[in-house]
Amino acid sequence: MFERFFPDEWVESAYSIDYEGYFEAGYRGLIFDIDNTLVPHGADADERAIKLFERLKEIGFDICLLSNNKKPRVERFNKDINVKYIFKAGKPYSKNYYVASMMTRTSTKSTLVIGDQLFTDIYGGKLAGIHTILVNPIDKKEDLQVRLKRLLERPVMMFYKHSLKEMAAQMPRNRKPETKAARRFFKKRGKHFSVSEHRARIDRLFKSRYI
Ligand SMILES: [Mg+2]
Repeated sequence: MFERFFPDEWVESAYSIDYEGYFEAGYRGLIFDIDNTLVPHGADADERAIKLFERLKEIGFDICLLSNNKKPRVERFNKDINVKYIFKAGKPYSKNYYVASMMTRTSTKSTLVIGDQLFTDIYGGKLAGIHTILVNPIDKKEDLQVRLKRLLERPVMMFYKHSLKEMAAQMPRNRKPETKAARRFFKKRGKHFSVSEHRARIDRLFKSRYI
């Protein structure tokens, strides 16, 4: 029931993603949410963000910011970043994901979506058939509207967390994973996979998302 909202990946931060690895795997376009994904809500691009985008451009990525926020906010953030952008994007509607993907001159299959919200960033990316990466919000102090959304996210994330652990449980060293999703999951993570480490990581991620 909740699977449609499950991200393809879940990591602590947009700053801890192995972008070089994704480029090597054939990804060429990046679609970023701004608020609470790259900087706290409403903040300008800080040094960390500027450095990240310099690195991403150097790797060879074509990048588009996709924000539901208004033009002045997005332009202010982009001042020192200088990438393509779409404001008032209407996420989770998929239309602007396709537009963003075209703007990055790549196909949806070689694009990544990175965002902190399940029902906008991730759901929209999934509707558009783009590989989605969920990150934990940078700032825990959020306005009422977002806090309500987090409350609704919580049960979905409980199921997602459970499904990740289930997949891990399917992988005692010498057995083949049973489901297609589990096979994909393990193919991505390679041979050196420790089930207990994975479970601990999932718990850590959940804890840092919902106090
Ligand atoms: Mg956000």
